[in-house]
This record gives sequence, C-alpha cells and structure tokens, in this order.
Amino acid sequence: MRIDLHTHSTASDGTDTPAELVRNAAAAGLDVVALTDHDTTRGHAAALAALPAGLTLVTGAELSCALGGAEPVRVHLLAYLFDPAEPTLLRERELLRDDRVPRARAIVGKLRDLGVPIVWERVAEIAGDGSVGRPHIATALVELGVVATVSDAFTPEWIADGGRAYVPQHELDAFTAVRLVKAAGGVAVLAHPGAVKRGRTVPDAALAELADAGLDGIEVDHMDHDPATRDRLRALAAGLSLLTTGSSDYHGSRKDVALGAYTTDPEIYGEITRRATGAFPVPGAGGRRP
Ligand code: AMP
Ligand code: ZN
Ligand code: FE
Ligand code: FE
Repeated sequence: MRIDLHTHSTASDGTDTPAELVRNAAAAGLDVVALTDHDTTRGHAAALAALPAGLTLVTGAELSCALGGAEPVRVHLLAYLFDPAEPTLLRERELLRDDRVPRARAIVGKLRDLGVPIVWERVAEIAGDGSVGRPHIATALVELGVVATVSDAFTPEWIADGGRAYVPQHELDAFTAVRLVKAAGGVAVLAHPGAVKRGRTVPDAALAELADAGLDGIEVDHMDHDPATRDRLRALAAGLSLLTTGSSDYHGSRKDVALGAYTTDPEIYGEITRRATGAFPVPGAGGRRP
C-alpha cells in the first residue's frame, strides 16, 4: 500500500486540477491520496468524480494557523476526514480563504512599491478559482523575469516570511483549529513542524500542549525535514503518543517533488481512518460514482 497524505491542486496553489491530480496519483502507483488544499475543500467534488478505480481518496484540507501570542509561529494543520458541512469549521475555512485575497493584493502593492511591474489581475488569473497564495504571486514574478523560479521568490528580498514584500495572512489559532477539526469528526496532523526554511519551527513544549489539546499526529517524512530532524520528531512523537505520517506535499509543477515521494505507513493510515467520524475514505469506481 502506497499512501500519500498531503497534496495540493488548483483549488489552492497546486498546478494539477483535482481530476488531473487523482489520475496522476493512480499513475504514480498510489493506493491512497489525500487532497489537502490550503484552507478549502472545494477540490473534493471534482477529485471524487474523476477518481480512478484502485485509488482511494482521503478528503482533507491544510489550515493556516498561528501558534503562540506576541510573535506567533506560523503552522499548517492537516485536517483529514472532517465533516465538510460542520458549520463552525466551515466558517473558519471561509474566513481563512477569503482573507487571502486582500492579503495577496497587499503583497502585490508592496512589490509595486519596490518597483516590480506586477499587476493584481495577472495574479488573480494565475490563481483562477483556487485559494490565492504566495506561490501564485511567485509564478507572476517568474513570468516578469524578476526571479528564475518560484522557490527563488521565497527570499527575504521578496516574499519569504518577513521579506520585503511579505504581508501576514489571517491565521486560525492552532489550538482552536485542533479542537474544531476534532469536533467536526476529523483527524488533526501538524504539517512539516520542523521545516526551518519556512521560518521558526514548532517548539517541543508547544507540541506537547497541542497533543494535550487533541492533536493526533505530526508529519515527519517531508522534503523540508533533514534526517536528523526526522529522527528528533519521531522520538518526540513516540514520547507524546502522536502518530507520524509521511507525504509529498505535491504542488504539481510549482514544486520539485513527485507524488508519493514520501509515504505514510499503512498501519498509521488505518489508525487515522479508525479515528475519523466526519467523513470516510472513498474508493475509486473508475471515474464514475456508483
Ligand atoms: P501562503 O499560503 O500564501 O503563505 O504561501 C505558502 C506556500 O508557499 C506554501 O504552502 C508552499 O507551498 C509555498 N512555499 C513556501 N516556502 C516556499 C519555498 N521556499 N519555495 C517554494 N515554495 C514555498
Ligand atoms: Zn502550498
Ligand atoms: Fe504547508
Ligand atoms: Fe502543503
């Protein structure tokens, strides 16, 4: 069983449509794929409608969260198999997603102040109906020849956290997020907690508090974690009785990682599905729902 629990489609900042993503996941030999777009579940219906036989879809989302008070650490919470209609979590997803538009416009404004001839209309076009994010802005910067690659835009000079054109987004308190996901019948897994290049990492004490608040697991096998970080996170997880996952965080052509590059142990996947009560994994029926 090959299980990849973290991917993005055009419903946020990936480049595969949800239908392309599930087809590519099957072609990559995956048995299970989770669709976890930033702050939205809008890609799920199209992914389900196109789901190939032999591939199971885990519905999810990656929620933009903040941890701590005065100088919060930005964290991403992977939420799996929650009830998409549960009103409180639905409202929070909408707030997070909707705030991305004025925030992205503010980033574009800062870039223009820096002399970059970027226009919001082009960024909006690139984002289409997906949750707009910095990768869309980075794509526009590549088109303008300001940077060579999407990754090159994530520097202090441009749009990295705290960078010259950075604007923070509205974020959900991480503890609130864990509680809301659990209350909606979902399973909560902290994404890439040791990804240093994205800014400050999650302090060990905060991880323990999140575990107390109901966090189910942490993502360990991820491209942004070096081997020492993975070992450290695995030991921490064992001490806190947290599940450990592995996943690609695939973004199509916007990121240099293949579907299934990192995977989750089938036993841990089984435990995730046992804990979920808000939704259930959907096995593909050859592109048509039975
Ligand atoms: P946003 O959600 O708008 O704050 O943008 C965050 C997204 O940017 C993440 O989900 C990643 O997909 C992407 N990202 C963050 N850092 C980098 C980086 N160094 N290189 C490429 N993409 C990045
Ligand atoms: Zn992303
Ligand atoms: Fe993330
Ligand atoms: Fe992600």
